[in-house]
Amino acid sequence: MTTPEKRDTAGSNDMLTDVAHNWLEELGQVLSRGDTGSYGKVFVPDAWWRDLLAFSGDLRSLHTADAIGPMIATAGTLGVSDFELDPRVLPALSSGDTAPPVLQILFGLTTRVGNVRAVARLIPDNDDIWRATALLTELDTLHGHEPATGHRRPHGNPESGERTGDRHAGRVREASTVDEPEVVVIGAGHSGLGLAAHLKTLGVRALVVDRNARIGDNWRSRYDSLVLHDPVWANHLPFLPFPPTWPVFTPKDRMGDWLELYARALELNVRTGTTVTSSTYDVSTGTWELDLDSCGQVHTVRPRHVVLATGLSGTEPLVPEFEGTDLFRGEILHSGRYRTDPARAGTSVVVIGTGNSGHDIAQDLYLSGANVTLMQRGPTYVVGGTTVVDVMLEPAYGEDSPPTEISDLVGASFPRFDEAAQDGLRAAVALMAERDRPLLDGLTTRGFRHNLGDDDMGAMNLFLTRNGGYYIDVGASRLIADGEIELVSGTIEEFTPDALRMSDGRRIPADTVVLATGFRGIHDTARRVLGDAVADKCGPVWGLDDEGEVRSVWRRSGHDGFWFSGGNLTMARVYNKYLALQIKADLEGIEFSSIP
Ligand SMILES: Cc1cc2nc3c(=O)[nH]c(=O)nc-3n(C[C@H](O)[C@H](O)[C@H](O)COP(=O)(O)OP(=O)(O)OC[C@H]3O[C@@H](n4cnc5c(N)ncnc54)[C@H](O)[C@@H]3O)c2cc1C
Repeated sequence: MTTPEKRDTAGSNDMLTDVAHNWLEELGQVLSRGDTGSYGKVFVPDAWWRDLLAFSGDLRSLHTADAIGPMIATAGTLGVSDFELDPRVLPALSSGDTAPPVLQILFGLTTRVGNVRAVARLIPDNDDIWRATALLTELDTLHGHEPATGHRRPHGNPESGERTGDRHAGRVREASTVDEPEVVVIGAGHSGLGLAAHLKTLGVRALVVDRNARIGDNWRSRYDSLVLHDPVWANHLPFLPFPPTWPVFTPKDRMGDWLELYARALELNVRTGTTVTSSTYDVSTGTWELDLDSCGQVHTVRPRHVVLATGLSGTEPLVPEFEGTDLFRGEILHSGRYRTDPARAGTSVVVIGTGNSGHDIAQDLYLSGANVTLMQRGPTYVVGGTTVVDVMLEPAYGEDSPPTEISDLVGASFPRFDEAAQDGLRAAVALMAERDRPLLDGLTTRGFRHNLGDDDMGAMNLFLTRNGGYYIDVGASRLIADGEIELVSGTIEEFTPDALRMSDGRRIPADTVVLATGFRGIHDTARRVLGDAVADKCGPVWGLDDEGEVRSVWRRSGHDGFWFSGGNLTMARVYNKYLALQIKADLEGIEFSSIP
């Protein structure tokens, strides 16, 4: 094999395709034989193989021959075949001046269980043979249970007998799902609804319940100035993208309305004003018994699976203890209860905490005419919202970027602990900091402590490991740098009747104190909603395991028949599919292979 030219010409495209074909043929032979001894024919010594259900039955990132060997052996038992390059995406070569060229290819294959989509990145080794430095495989569909989308969509014609769209038939179908759901999803935010949409296409009867009166109230009830921090291209829900008229940054009420419309357009079964008041799980039958309370009317259902999609941060506020709060004459409220209130104009408000919520609320208060002081407890990573879009997101999620489905697949192909991926992330974070330099310098001048995140890896890493510790700037940083929002750093000694006294003796006047101090996490919500017996069986939820995979979300939670779903819109769109496939497989008695 020869090293292709760096430049993309028609000739080199053919050559790249040849390289890809040759590698794919070799991979097919190694996997179909389960030939662990041939690892070195297709992988470099320190390669990564990330697998999302297809071979491991779980979400796994495996590194080097010792870890990847069992996956190759498992592949040998799964009847792999039909290795084919993805005709929609040509093999693409990228190379820097010093870095070796990397050839990225997208392909598909089939196992006895289902169809698999894959991405590989190949580099030429010293012997001029191309080998994979990273491989992603993901289970796309289950044989015999393909989603009812595209060519398999419902017909809709009365002659077909399906009667979909018929309101009467719709109500009949809904009643059977409401009375005998196979899955109950608690929480009708984007996570719960997106999962329900996937389950529906797989023919699973799912009922979503939400304590709010209307779908979307979780967004509508937030403060007025809130807009999503990610651009529209990153935020599409499964099966129903935002229209091209949609604003780049979605205002919160429109997000609420969109969720409501989504549930209606996809005919999802949602019961609002509903909470779970009691739950038991029968291990012998693998069945739950849940009492659902809808405005005082209790209704018992017996699903096989329960999914908690009530928001990763959890619904229980994290409230630090301070001396003297009983003496304070003003109002102390947690960020979760904060709403815009014009009556705060001209009053003094202290916001404690400098994550996204603290910044956003400080900005909202400033816009309401309050005298705002933001209190910083520890360093915070700050990055400009448009900077993130331009540097990080635009190539994958922008007006001219590849289709969302392709960007999602390629995005998933970077194992989080892969040093090359981490170096790339650090370089992007450094580049963004350079672009934001004037703003960051302005913050420094005001005494705001900022950093580049843990290991200089920015916001996504903080989100995955701590679910906080960063601010994606949509205006508050400029207000701080310009002194429109006061900044105080340090430790609070005590509350006095009308102020906060700092340990260095400073006095910060306050009529209201907003605690933007976070929430206890979804594991605590599981304990409150489903009880200790369930929560005790679940491992840590969120954060990364030893392989860099998110713990307990969209994968086995530790308790049979119980799952967590959550994350931002991008992650939920990508990973809810795997959760839906795991539930469908369980309902159909399909066993996934597993590896140590
Ligand atoms: C300022 C700001 C900007 C943001 N920007 C973005 C962005 O650009 N992109 C993005 O992806 N995310 C963004 N987020 C994060 C966003 O809040 C989460 O991504 C999103 O809310 C998570 O969705 P979810 O469906 O997992 O949970 P939620 O949206 O929290 O929905 C959970 C649902 O569960 C219901 N519920 C809770 N407890 C119960 C119970 N016991 N019984 C029944 N129902 C219950 C709630 O009523 C709610 O409807 C932003 C957040 C903030 C504060």
